[in-house]
Amino acid sequence: MLLDYASGAADEGVSLIVATHLCFCPSCRALVALAESVGGALLDDVAPMRGDALVNALARLDNVAPEPKAEASRDGTPSSLRHLLGGDLSGVRWRAMGPKLAFANLFRRGQTRARLLKGMPGGDTGSHGHHAFEYTLVLQGGFIDETGSYGPGDLQVATPDIVHNPVADPGEPCINLAVTTAPLRFDRFIPRLAAKTFGF
Ligand code: ZN
Repeated sequence: MLLDYASGAADEGVSLIVATHLCFCPSCRALVALAESVGGALLDDVAPMRGDALVNALARLDNVAPEPKAEASRDGTPSSLRHLLGGDLSGVRWRAMGPKLAFANLFRRGQTRARLLKGMPGGDTGSHGHHAFEYTLVLQGGFIDETGSYGPGDLQVATPDIVHNPVADPGEPCINLAVTTAPLRFDRFIPRLAAKTFGF
């Protein structure tokens, strides 16, 4: 995922997951920086820019909308998310999915959906499987499931062979960034109905 991200091969969902993980993880930041410099050196070797190619490339960069001024987050919201939210996590308008679970949609591209999920302590998503990939990155708090325990910056990649029921840790609410590449698979009726209603 890091190499895909560094080479620009990652899609928007994976790019968001990786960019957000990088805000937490110095060793992955170093690896991406290394991959980018190696990739750049290879490009220089393979395809030296001739004539006005460099000028044109720089002009294209100039035409890209400028990044909004990077104001410091007041609550430690990763910059990759501030960009999408237009502000901090503390300003997110959550949609309740029950007494202990809420979500906020970030974007949808085809079958891929990016969302924020918030679980109050002890809240669970309901046991579910996956038709494709589910990337879950912890932003705040933590959760535990059949595969282990996850805290801030940790990434879980759930594949179609995994059935799990993530439960939010005691203490502060667990806030996750979740990217799914297909709908989830709930076996029990009520969760299945809720998932359909809320588009999970
Ligand atoms: Zn899952």
